[in-house]
Amino acid sequence: MANPLHDALFAPLANSDAPFLHLADGTTVTRDAFLQSAAQMANALGAAGVTPGDRVAVHVQKSPEALALYAACIMAGVVFLPLNTAYTPSELDYFVGDSGAALFVCDPGEVEAMTPIAKAHGCTLLTLGADGQGTFADAASEQTGTFTAVDRGEGDLAAFLYTSGTTGRSKGAMLTQGNLLSNARSLIEAWRFTSDDVLLHALPIFHAHGLFVASNVSLLAGGSMIFLPKFDTDTVIEMLPKATAMMGVPTFYTRLLDDERFTRDLTAHMRVFISGSAPLLAETHERFEARTGHRILERYGMTETSMNTSNPYDGERRAGTVGFPLPGVDIRVCDPETGAEVPAGEIGVLHVRGPNVFRGYWQMPEKTREELLPDGFFITGDLARVDEDGYVHIVGRGKDLIISGGYNIYPKEIEVFLDDQPGVLESAVIGAPHPDFGESVVAVLVPEAGATVDLEEIEATARRELAGFKRPRRFEVMDALPRNTMGKVQKNELRTTFADVFQ
Ligand code: ATP
Ligand code: MG
Repeated sequence: MANPLHDALFAPLANSDAPFLHLADGTTVTRDAFLQSAAQMANALGAAGVTPGDRVAVHVQKSPEALALYAACIMAGVVFLPLNTAYTPSELDYFVGDSGAALFVCDPGEVEAMTPIAKAHGCTLLTLGADGQGTFADAASEQTGTFTAVDRGEGDLAAFLYTSGTTGRSKGAMLTQGNLLSNARSLIEAWRFTSDDVLLHALPIFHAHGLFVASNVSLLAGGSMIFLPKFDTDTVIEMLPKATAMMGVPTFYTRLLDDERFTRDLTAHMRVFISGSAPLLAETHERFEARTGHRILERYGMTETSMNTSNPYDGERRAGTVGFPLPGVDIRVCDPETGAEVPAGEIGVLHVRGPNVFRGYWQMPEKTREELLPDGFFITGDLARVDEDGYVHIVGRGKDLIISGGYNIYPKEIEVFLDDQPGVLESAVIGAPHPDFGESVVAVLVPEAGATVDLEEIEATARRELAGFKRPRRFEVMDALPRNTMGKVQKNELRTTFADVFQ
């Protein structure tokens, strides 16, 4: 009997009084207590009629119990389906219906709104709150704390994770036990995680970053986590002295840099800071090093593949790049039209292959066929270039490419230029429909706090430094860029807002 993920991640927690989770209120959850609570929940899943292979949709706040529910699903051979806490009832209706979930666990505060959804899709509704209480917790408390993990193989599904929906409707990525385990194994090796590590965890656990990268890595290494409900600068600064490692999205690091308490002294004991989920500006990388002496380790991945590339632990962590393919991951850069590999050093669509690559999109056979090629490569949709030393540069998303008068324009190149202009905090460049050129370039600028941007001067500089076809034909100023909870800029939203500027 075996259940590879359970055997590697959760079984080793048994009979250990060592801390697994350090909570913000100063209390801890021991390794064994976490495992027992997961076992009780696994029994409760069975009592609720959930059988191996069923999906359990989960829309709850981050808590130790929410993480134990993930463990319970793995133990019970059930497909775990975490849902973004920001989703609205109509979005949840789609996800619960699309996934065909047998059980839907939601926050006690949203029972009223979720009851019709559960009814419409014929699934059981139970609750779990941020405080660990609710009808599911009650049901679990009546169960014993022992559970024999259900037999599973590496090819069996462990989770459905919906993509972030940055480029369109979210797709349910089917991830196997082998996908998740192979990636966690590569990452603990690449980042040197051991049982001595204390990972500062302020990420959400409905996303690959917080769940499969952060939590699985910590579990597989046998370490512990400072498990915070969300990113809060004060709490992170207070907890940092007890951590050895931190994982975050770029906004975590820019927020820390904005706080003068975030110093070289505060971070001197830290082993590593890791970033991903959205591009880390080279400027942030440099400011971080100047302030702390640490070079952030940036890596690149996606819901469908978990992590693909990483900057090296030893060796140069090159700013503005996502490093090298992880062991076992093959990459190639291809022409988006023909699919043929482009010459070395040129930009194209990144394809990846490896034990980390998912099994397909749930109930989207055509989309799966389009993106998962017969030779095992997955078309990421990200544009990339591999430099002469083998570092991968993510140049942007294929869908963000602007084609103006027949020229390809990579928004990132223009954003890097704009970010350097006086008074500009950050920028986003998009294409908007244009009667002559098909599309033309719109630059959205966010001023630094208290600063105003001189658009005429920026335009004049752009005229000198950017080729004519790349030059923004329209500048817009906003207080902040629209971002989702993972810090990803929502360019779709900007494209809608500025759809008519050239009409
Ligand atoms: P959807 O696929 O629904 O449009 P999404 O691609 O944003 O949404 P995720 O799977 O959460 O959903 O995000 C993966 C994407 O995040 C990658 O394809 C890439 O564009 C971006 N990404 C992740 N890490 C990095 C990084 N270090 N640098 C640049 N981009 C990154
Ligand atoms: Mg995607």
